[in-house]
Amino acid sequence: MHKTVDVVIVGGGIMSATLGTLLQKLEPSWSIDLYERLGAPAEESTNPWNNAGTGHAALCELNYTPEQADGSIATASAVKVNEQFQVSRQFWSYLVDEGIIPSPEKFIVPVPHMSFVWGEANVDYLRRRFDALKNHPLFTGMQYTEDPAVIHQWAPLLMPGRSKNEPVAATYYAQGTDVNFGALTEILLDSMAANGATVRMNTTVRSVKRRADGLWAVNIVNEIGKTPSTVLAKFVFVGAGGYALNLLQRSGIPEIRGFAGFPVSGQFYRCDDPAVVAQHQAKVYGRASVGAPPMSVPHLDTRVVDGGTSLLFGPYAGFTPKFLKTGSLIDLFRSIRPGNIVAMIQVALTNLGLVKYLAAEVFASKARRVASLREYFPGADASKWYLYNAGQRVQVIKTDPDKGGILQFGTEVVAHKDGSIAGLLGASPGASTAVSAMLEVLEKCFPQRLNVWREQIVDMIPSYGTVLSADPKATATSLARTAKALKLV
Ligand SMILES: Cc1cc2nc3c(=O)[nH]c(=O)nc-3n(C[C@H](O)[C@H](O)[C@H](O)COP(=O)(O)OP(=O)(O)OC[C@H]3O[C@@H](n4cnc5c(N)ncnc54)[C@H](O)[C@@H]3O)c2cc1C
Repeated sequence: MHKTVDVVIVGGGIMSATLGTLLQKLEPSWSIDLYERLGAPAEESTNPWNNAGTGHAALCELNYTPEQADGSIATASAVKVNEQFQVSRQFWSYLVDEGIIPSPEKFIVPVPHMSFVWGEANVDYLRRRFDALKNHPLFTGMQYTEDPAVIHQWAPLLMPGRSKNEPVAATYYAQGTDVNFGALTEILLDSMAANGATVRMNTTVRSVKRRADGLWAVNIVNEIGKTPSTVLAKFVFVGAGGYALNLLQRSGIPEIRGFAGFPVSGQFYRCDDPAVVAQHQAKVYGRASVGAPPMSVPHLDTRVVDGGTSLLFGPYAGFTPKFLKTGSLIDLFRSIRPGNIVAMIQVALTNLGLVKYLAAEVFASKARRVASLREYFPGADASKWYLYNAGQRVQVIKTDPDKGGILQFGTEVVAHKDGSIAGLLGASPGASTAVSAMLEVLEKCFPQRLNVWREQIVDMIPSYGTVLSADPKATATSLARTAKALKLV
């Protein structure tokens, strides 16, 4: 006789923890089992050292404001990602008010967000970007300068050693954030367990199969005793990060046909030297090099993790066929299906610039990596920095009816049409937008419950169902309320 639960959640990262917390609030009587294959939660992309911890709100990331063919700056993606981050801030603030997050400073701290560029064309771009955003309610307070002395004041490591004749420019937003998504995940999973969920580590979900009675048979194995068992679930969420694709493929749902994954690995340089760390208090994003994927924009970051502060520079993109950092070298090959192989080939052929860029990054010498660091911190002493492997991203390849195989850099919620199973593919903007992504899962999978839930969702996330920035007063209220609750002021 198998155990039957309302919900099985696969994976112990930020997405699963967010969905589990939302569901527990909305349906306290539902039984929830969460299974994580590793010995601890948040050991993959959600681990603070496996990602950059930027509270992505487009306050500094230039890839959200591309320059159009007519020279204008597109701001729609920037506004969208900022809106989504406000949704996360509102939900986290609610959890603080509820006592579920007693000390928000354990996972989120204020770190100014800066964009920094050099060269005539880039300065011109940043000036126009600033002009396009400065009056928007979500970007009010952003500052702009072309004065090296002001930049030096904002971020003292950037200017010394730079040619005096080179034009430079920067924007500065004091209330940017650094987020430890691993710490947040642990807080949420502890709360889920305390409220009756079963949260099991060292438990791998091998497969998810539909039964004739409509339940999902979730086949799990305990990684310590290697004992297999089966749990039956009415609803399954596959929050397995890079392994979501494979589990969804094996579930047999037609909606996953045509999807494939393109793994991109990354490395960061890290510096823990207190004398260096003390001189930089910002997340400074630059412009990506030609051919670079949007998530490879270089940045020099303050990171605050478990009470310690370090500096991070990168990422240096790379390639391995693994779909998780702790994955297998055959992951990519295992994901090939008759339904996605054409899309994979089309993507390879139409993204030769990216392939070339990744190849160059994989074989980059230490001298080249240090040279990249010195583009941002000219006086960097290489002996104080060490390179390490960050998390693995699996970018979404999907089959577009008109364009064929396309590579996309966002996330994608894939759900079965009856709403009984869903999963999340892709990695960007990622953890910062986890709450919006998980609300999308609820909307796709439980449309019939939404009317019942709506009032409670609005209680947790006041801007739910609206465009926050369409109402400047509501935006200001939300920013002030969440800054106070999350101790960002
Ligand atoms: C280099 C890098 C930098 C990034 N920077 C940022 C940033 O600055 N800001 C930001 O917001 N986002 C950033 N991201 C994205 C962000 O880290 C991810 O979007 C987010 O952590 C994904 O969370 P997740 O829960 O989906 O996946 P994960 O954290 O990968 O969790 C999935 C979990 O599922 C488990 N699992 C897998 N298969 C199974 C199975 N079969 N059975 C049981 N468990 C399983 C895994 O072990 C893992 O713990 C970055 C990512 C990378 C790689």
